[in-house]
Amino acid sequence: QPITTDMETLTREVKKFATDKKLEIELLQVREEYRRDFLGNVSHELKTPLFTVQGYISTLLDGAMEDKVIRKKYLKRAEKGVERLIYIVEDLDMITKLEAGDLNLEYSEFDIFELIQNVFDLLEMKAEKKHIKLTFDNNKPLRNFVRGDRDRIQQVIENLIVNSIKYGKENGTTEVSVVNLTKKKVLVRVSDDGGGIEKQHLPRLFERFYRVNKSGSREEGGSGLGLAIVKHIVEAHKEKIYVESEFGIGSEFSFTLERPTVKKL
Ligand code: ADP
Repeated sequence: QPITTDMETLTREVKKFATDKKLEIELLQVREEYRRDFLGNVSHELKTPLFTVQGYISTLLDGAMEDKVIRKKYLKRAEKGVERLIYIVEDLDMITKLEAGDLNLEYSEFDIFELIQNVFDLLEMKAEKKHIKLTFDNNKPLRNFVRGDRDRIQQVIENLIVNSIKYGKENGTTEVSVVNLTKKKVLVRVSDDGGGIEKQHLPRLFERFYRVNKSGSREEGGSGLGLAIVKHIVEAHKEKIYVESEFGIGSEFSFTLERPTVKKL
């Protein structure tokens, strides 16, 4: 049985059995342990970039500052470290809100094709650096409108595409497609040919701080929270998220979304 670090699942599991006081106390202990574990993870995540930034600043103060070229290079690296810290803190802020159920979704009807195009524009440069092609399978459903919190859904798609670039191979392809599931649902798919994920990791992939390859993820500037955020947002919409992956071949992440109900004239 994998150890779950997902508090909601844990609480649900324990509550099933928490019929008396003793078990309630145990639940509190589990919560406390979970909180400690979370704080431990957070400080660990922050430490690496903080030490990096400190390292460059110290080296600069120790004399590297005199050399104009090195000065610029080190300042740029320190800036990157601070940028990473900001990303991590933003992700932490988001996951805390999502786990507390503090994120109110603002529903609207929006064009999912347009949203995907926006995300492509945002990530074009990042993809180009690895010569990864971003393609959109424009197999138009009858109506391309969906219902949900536009900004949050944008974040879901962004996180999935960013991962496909981060863990993708040079000259690879990421394909996004939208397919009709039923009259009321569409499925948004993000697939890549980036080498895939071994089966044993799949059940834990959406847990916060879970990574297949720790150093690989940190090198890529990952917080380990991207997929946990994705899952929370999708589930807050009462929708479903799926992952399929074949090691050595590629991965496909997909999630469902509601289509607006047709207004009768
Ligand atoms: P991270 O910040 O580490 O990217 P995520 O929660 O977004 O955190 O992803 C968790 C882990 O899942 C990653 O560290 C990586 O090992 C794996 N992963 C996610 N997306 C992909 C993908 N498209 N291809 C291969 N591995 C992936």
